[in-house]
Amino acid sequence: MSARILVVDDIPANVKLLEVKLQAEYYDVVTASNGPQALEAVKTHAPDLVLLDVMMPGMDGFQVCRAIKSDAQSAHIPVVMVTALSDVKDRVRGLEAGADDFLTKPPNSIALFARIRSLVRLKRAVDEWHTREAAASAFGASFEAKESQFSGPGRILIVQDPLRGVGRAAEILRNAGHTVTEAPNVTAAREHAEAEEFDLILADHFVAGEDVLRLCSWFRSQEGTRHVPILLQIEDGEHDRMAKALDLGVNDYLVKPVDRDELIARTRSQLRRKRFEEALRDNYRKNLVAAMTDGLTGLYNRRYLETHFELVNKRLAESNKPLSLMILDIDRFKLVNDTYGHRAGDQILQGIAAHLADRVRGSDTATRLGGEEFVVLMPETRLEEVMAAANRIGRSIGATVFAAEGVDHGLQITVSIGVASATAGTSTFDELLARADGALYEAKRTGRNKVCGAPAEEMRKTA
Ligand code: GH3
Ligand code: MG
Ligand code: MG
Repeated sequence: MSARILVVDDIPANVKLLEVKLQAEYYDVVTASNGPQALEAVKTHAPDLVLLDVMMPGMDGFQVCRAIKSDAQSAHIPVVMVTALSDVKDRVRGLEAGADDFLTKPPNSIALFARIRSLVRLKRAVDEWHTREAAASAFGASFEAKESQFSGPGRILIVQDPLRGVGRAAEILRNAGHTVTEAPNVTAAREHAEAEEFDLILADHFVAGEDVLRLCSWFRSQEGTRHVPILLQIEDGEHDRMAKALDLGVNDYLVKPVDRDELIARTRSQLRRKRFEEALRDNYRKNLVAAMTDGLTGLYNRRYLETHFELVNKRLAESNKPLSLMILDIDRFKLVNDTYGHRAGDQILQGIAAHLADRVRGSDTATRLGGEEFVVLMPETRLEEVMAAANRIGRSIGATVFAAEGVDHGLQITVSIGVASATAGTSTFDELLARADGALYEAKRTGRNKVCGAPAEEMRKTA
């Protein structure tokens, strides 16, 4: 994952050190040697992340951070404070200024790249969110959530050997408002993960003789925990294990003894990313459903039918199977609207749609083509069969009383149906539909409430 990183430090050697490290990992690096230059670079280069020195003459790191975070154009860019002193007070001040993370100088590579990966992923999720929000509002739709709903407490599973450093992290997180479940060993952790849902997993790298990295890799493989962020607590200096953990999909880590502010900050950014990604996935699903279906009746729409027809037509063509479709059009529907109102008309359309959906086979596809016209695509169905099905459906609609608002005893509705069949692979969707439509016209012309079939292709072609 490449990204553009702004490195800010007043000492050229420090800038150079970070620049070389980052470039070796193919990051695109921009540099600044003081506060005002940094703010200018944020505007002109729109970096994905800022590595910010705290102590600089003139404008210090806290001021720069506050300026970045208070400008709506740059507030979502993650800022990592790079502090010479591992002073807790500095961290708190950094957090208050809006910093997303901290690193102690000189940062080791594993820590540096773990933070960068984690924060750049979060930013990408936020960027994606803003893009979709803009696209949705251009359509006059509103994206169904606001950014603020992504912060806030979460459900956290802590995997920690009770004999080692009991409950400190649990206590900190509970006090911060999170719901915490504690698992004293790997078996308990698996059981909890299978039975409950979590937003974050915090695991101690050492749990009485058990391999926690194996547990982390198991979390990644399970449906329920595949997308749940994992934070690992390690002892200082365990770089090799940490590198392996990050390769396995652990998202970030904390060095023990755990600092309260650091734990809270890292928890917050992991929770935010998870929620953004979840909302994006959800929205994608919703959009997909909306793109395929008709809003009024819930049936598939024409766009879906066309795509689906292509697939079925191609699949059946290999074995020369037939496929058929019927088009149904409500008789004198305009009269229903004119007499009882548009809303009653809508309810009749919904009633007919439900009736249709109940009476077709699982392999058939019922769609609302538009207006008061419906189409059923029937794979592996010959003309006689689709005629029989159409007659059955037509009779059953005619025998049903449909409910509609303001119509005391309901309404009786009839439909006219045109059907057409073809050997798969010999017609396009438009061709088959046009033949069925011709038959429908014939049914309307010759009295309505009936079924007509289009002549077989061979006859049509030789005629
Ligand atoms: P025919 O028997 O010849 O099919 O007559 P018809 O009145 O059904 O056909 P026509 O095409 O003249 O009118 C179709 C009507 O369907 C007109 C239109 O207002 C109505 N209609 C189309 N879409 C909707 C809809 O979404 N809701 C409602 N309530 N009415 C709709
Ligand atoms: Mg019509
Ligand atoms: Mg009609």
